[in-house]
Amino acid sequence: MKNKLDPKIEARFIALGNKRYYRTLVLTAVWILLVIASFLVFVISTERSFADLGNYLILLLCIVPFFPFSAHKILLSKSFYASVSHATDDALYDELRKAYMSNRFDVENVRSVTFEKDSGEKFTISYKIKGYIMDGLHYDEGDRVFFVRGLKYPLKFPITEGEEFTCPACGHTVSAEDAVCKSCRLDFSDILKI
Ligand SMILES: [Zn+2]
Repeated sequence: MKNKLDPKIEARFIALGNKRYYRTLVLTAVWILLVIASFLVFVISTERSFADLGNYLILLLCIVPFFPFSAHKILLSKSFYASVSHATDDALYDELRKAYMSNRFDVENVRSVTFEKDSGEKFTISYKIKGYIMDGLHYDEGDRVFFVRGLKYPLKFPITEGEEFTCPACGHTVSAEDAVCKSCRLDFSDILKI
């Protein structure tokens, strides 16, 4: 099994991740500026004092509901290689998924995947079912993955014939047959040639 991606393929995914990273950075900055601007307009137009702590409480109440919750995940992400050391049992996962599909929301719909970085550091990510996104979480024990800064999910490689894997950009299931994500149109044909 190849330990790392072909440098060309690696560069392609890093470039894609960077695009999303900087887009998120700009959007977050615009959002922060809008919050500050609307706060200033509010304080000045109502002739309140900046020393009034109540103003800051209002600012906080304005921020919390609109905070772009997933932005920090992208902004804090990093690029590195890892291996899957443990994943929730597939039978349990399938059962949970079926329950979700039949609208039984009483079931705790989570799949946990433990990744081990090449430095030996381990961390677990629990993916909650949201819409159909859980459909694409294909990570099994022994898989080699590349986490890309700016992308939501790690890229699994190599991908063998007839296999399904997770699109690192959007989380949907991609089949090796298609080699293109049906949701975001990301192309994986170069990875399949490894
Ligand atoms: Zn996709």
